[in-house]
Amino acid sequence: MPALLLCAKLRLMPELPEVEHVVRALRRVVVGRRIVATEVTLPKLIWPTSASAFKRKLKDSRITEVSRRGKFILIHIEKGGALPHGRATAPARTSEHVVAVHLRMTGKFLYLSADDELPKHARAIFYLDNDRRLVFSDQRKFGVMKLVAKSRLSKTKGIGELAPEPFSDDFNVSYLKDTLARSRRTLKTLLLDQTRVLGLGNIYAAEALFRAGINPFKVSSELSMKRVMRLHAEILEVLRDAISDSSTSRIDLEQPDGVSYGEAFERFWQVYEREGEPCIKCGTRIRRMTHGGRSTYWCPKCQRR
Ligand SMILES: [Zn+2]
Repeated sequence: MPALLLCAKLRLMPELPEVEHVVRALRRVVVGRRIVATEVTLPKLIWPTSASAFKRKLKDSRITEVSRRGKFILIHIEKGGALPHGRATAPARTSEHVVAVHLRMTGKFLYLSADDELPKHARAIFYLDNDRRLVFSDQRKFGVMKLVAKSRLSKTKGIGELAPEPFSDDFNVSYLKDTLARSRRTLKTLLLDQTRVLGLGNIYAAEALFRAGINPFKVSSELSMKRVMRLHAEILEVLRDAISDSSTSRIDLEQPDGVSYGEAFERFWQVYEREGEPCIKCGTRIRRMTHGGRSTYWCPKCQRR
């Protein structure tokens, strides 16, 4: 039986749409399952929790939900409190925790049968009650796995500071206007700051700005209301397209080698990695500028300064 492989392209940091796909794929296979045992081969992955505490807290817990906050994958677990059949007494105290996972560069989940060989870079293994293993593999070891009490999640470093979710009511035009108005940074820089605007990485920031016809090097606070509205709409649109379009069906989770999310998504990129190619709107050559190791792509005509 081939492994379910949930992966992201090596050279690309997975962005929010890719993470959302991992969440959905995980949700389909692990929600409702009980964790029988856990193994951690890379202690720094789960820092500051110790491997023994991690194992103890997860043992015999049930996975109740898989969700997402920014690019953190949240595996919700619950322990205790279940009533035996027919018992009407008060349940024992329930503990609710979240395993918050950030894939970073090379982190990925695999859903393996008992016969499947463990991948070389397996860093954490969750043994499930259906004889399957949920494996977190991470070649470059930048991934993060935090075990936090559910009640503490919004105060957890890296999660608590995140800007509102793009599809929530809190991320509205006036939020974006206020956020931009307070910043002298360029749009390109500000849009990548997840504590200000959540959801855009290097790829989708370039795509949203292109769709909105706005120059990436414009100072944030100088954007007119009309343009803020346009940008807000395009941010949502580009994320929605990446999450919901047919690329979902192009990702074959049953392929042992995996089809990378990057490959599946890049077909709809309009400026990203298209330096020198004609703009799809006006034919002008797409330009690229590199700053701090990251490339910015834009059409000099459609996105005039
Ligand atoms: Zn153009």
